[in-house]
Amino acid sequence: MTKLLLATRNAKKLQELRRILEAESIEGIEVVGLNDVDDFPEAPETAPDFEGNAAAKARDAVAATGLPSIADDSGLAVDALNGMPGVLSARWSGKHGDDEANLNLVLAQLTDTPPERRGAAFICAAVLAHPTGEKTTVRGEWRGTLTTKPRGTNGFGYDPIFIPEHETRTSAELPPEEKDKSSHRAQALRALIPALKALAAH
Ligand code: IMP
Repeated sequence: MTKLLLATRNAKKLQELRRILEAESIEGIEVVGLNDVDDFPEAPETAPDFEGNAAAKARDAVAATGLPSIADDSGLAVDALNGMPGVLSARWSGKHGDDEANLNLVLAQLTDTPPERRGAAFICAAVLAHPTGEKTTVRGEWRGTLTTKPRGTNGFGYDPIFIPEHETRTSAELPPEEKDKSSHRAQALRALIPALKALAAH
């Protein structure tokens, strides 16, 4: 059994990766999270792009544990804000993790932006780093438009103001299984399948 660390404390992200491995019949990989390994210092996210943050997190995880490790970084890129909040998504209002303040600030910034220019995308970069120094970098993008008012109670972050393409509901109104099928994170994890198959074959 090869141990694979997903550098997260989020149980839902761990389950999602385990489900993907199962759906692809990839055997011989045991997925563990940060709560299953000894604590190590987690550096702040300072890279200018999602890939850079994911790579730094994955590299730190490999260095601390010696295990092949996956890390991801994600956020919302708003067309009318030239791709921001981007890597600053979690702290856009100045306070880390204040989802309501963050989405209200984006809505306020777009007050006069008409519907046809309210395009946005959730983006997720994921990196699988090996103890050999080898790494695989992938990216998932989930395009949509932004509402003028929050709707829905599922999900987190900017979900209440994001309507995915081909949808009328916000991603906070989608049942979690539906969001999981098309989300930026699911797309990124699925893009890692060939690299995960190669890992399982070792
Ligand atoms: P992280 O990659 O988990 O650190 O997420 C960064 C930030 O991006 C979160 O705090 C959210 O504000 C935003 N974000 C990332 N993915 C999603 C999502 O699926 N729905 C809503 N917001 C998201």
